[in-house]
Amino acid sequence: MSAVVLDGKKIAAEIRDEVVREVQSFKERGISPKMAVVLVGDDPASVVYARAKEKACQKVGIGYELIRFPASASEKEVVAKLRELSADPSIHGIMVELPVPPHISKERVTLEVAPLKDVDCVNPQNRGFLFSRKEGLFPATPLSCVEILRRSGINLEGKHVVLVGRGDTVGKPLIFLLLQENATVTICHTRTRDLGYHTRQADVLVVAAGKPGLISGDMIKPGACVVDAGINEVEGGGITGDVKFEEALNVAGYITPVPGGVGALTTVLIQKNLMKALRMQRGEA
Ligand code: NAP
Repeated sequence: MSAVVLDGKKIAAEIRDEVVREVQSFKERGISPKMAVVLVGDDPASVVYARAKEKACQKVGIGYELIRFPASASEKEVVAKLRELSADPSIHGIMVELPVPPHISKERVTLEVAPLKDVDCVNPQNRGFLFSRKEGLFPATPLSCVEILRRSGINLEGKHVVLVGRGDTVGKPLIFLLLQENATVTICHTRTRDLGYHTRQADVLVVAAGKPGLISGDMIKPGACVVDAGINEVEGGGITGDVKFEEALNVAGYITPVPGGVGALTTVLIQKNLMKALRMQRGEA
């Protein structure tokens, strides 16, 4: 058996077309969608992500402003800028590249991203809505895990989803998105006894641990759907996921690759969130 490989790039292109149409329709009404990204310091991954978002915004006609602070910037300066952006009617979405330097409190700065402009769901208010709302500005990577399945025709209702990872960025928010899809959810982490026992029960196995090769073929139920959210740098360049892809291919029914799977959807889902944020700001959603 060889699993069907779910093509994240193709799905991302579909979503991008939708974003382009939405951007055009806003522009026809005299509104130019725009997002701002605040980057403090020179963390290489954050610089790459910020530039990638800029290119992606150019591609779909979304305005983009990058505000850079040196690593020595004070929390007060960053908070003041976030307040200014939150109040600026020409800015519809705000992101703060994380991590921020250690002398700046992540909790403090995320609270300053206006909830209706919070396109990656970092403000604790929006995080709280994950518990209670079906719709809202939810974080892009957990959304990508659900969206790649939905758009591939894989329904989660009643399925047993085993999630490996309870991190703040991916695992934890994903629990609530999976419950909203009416899945039965088991959550595994470093203290889980016999990880393979649990993963073998999964109709859908979602892995967000950040540990290359954590999941081998014998940990997967034959025919299961495997979603690999892991991004691990490979020595000499490139990235790999948390699942042993070649082994999993022989056991799973469906699998998302790395690269070209979950990660391919993240940026465009931030843009989709920007469109939703704009509608929410205008009382249209
Ligand atoms: P994180 O905060 O580091 O959390 C990792 C989670 O995995 C923790 O809950 C940890 O358990 C669990 N874990 C680690 N090793 C394990 C093991 N051997 N057995 C069982 N559980 C284990 O991670 P994150 O920030 O949520 O990110 C998760 C992954 O997603 C990373 O690879 C990251 O690079 C990737 N990511 C991808 C995207 C994208 O666009 N595709 C975006 C963001 C992040 P404990 O809680 O017990 O420590």
